[in-house]
Amino acid sequence: MRVSVLRQQHPGSDPYWETFEYDGPDHNSVAGVLDYLNYHDDIVDTEGRRTTRIGWECSCLQGICGACAMVINGRPALACETFIRDLKGPEIRIQPLRKFPVIHDLVTDRSSIHENLKQANVSIGEYRPSAKTDHAHHYAVAKCLKCGLCLEVCPNYVNGRTFFGAAFANDCYLVASRNRSKTAEIRTLYAEHFGKDCSKSLSCMEICPMKIQTLASIARLNRGKL
Ligand code: SF4
Repeated sequence: MRVSVLRQQHPGSDPYWETFEYDGPDHNSVAGVLDYLNYHDDIVDTEGRRTTRIGWECSCLQGICGACAMVINGRPALACETFIRDLKGPEIRIQPLRKFPVIHDLVTDRSSIHENLKQANVSIGEYRPSAKTDHAHHYAVAKCLKCGLCLEVCPNYVNGRTFFGAAFANDCYLVASRNRSKTAEIRTLYAEHFGKDCSKSLSCMEICPMKIQTLASIARLNRGKL
């Protein structure tokens, strides 16, 4: 099986495709494929040219850290949860996330997700939960990995400077429901950085590896009933 990777040596340098022959186990995930290709002392492409190890990020390799988010055959996904037996065609094409600056190969800078939360001061402060908190939804939303896949597919998220996307909206819900004294402030921030520009394509919900129901967070914030 051929594996093509869109590589980029440095931020701002020109990206280029490099193709490798993968002859490892066919039960591997894409994370396993990248590991397998990198494992050899001499890494050569399909033309026999020596090349460097492929840069990519991982931590848990079990779908709970979100580090290995990338674009696989045109679809944003976690590499550790994407198995090659489920991919169609003779080739796997792997690219970095396109909405975030590339640091090296498949490693992108997703710090804007956290910076936006800090800038908007979406922090809990004193714990004063609403008496009617929906604990099931609360628990589900708290699983957000900050992986950025929802932002990758969002038609309204461009660079995270004004519209902050689904990860932000879900954190707004979490904070507003955990501290009633901040509900009004958080709803204002949510309206400014999410509510007024969200077109409800709901692509964020289709792609989310944690199956977070962002629409439920939106509805609760819009109603003011958390
Ligand atoms: S809402 Fe889902 S897709 Fe978006 S950052 Fe959180 S876990 Fe990732």
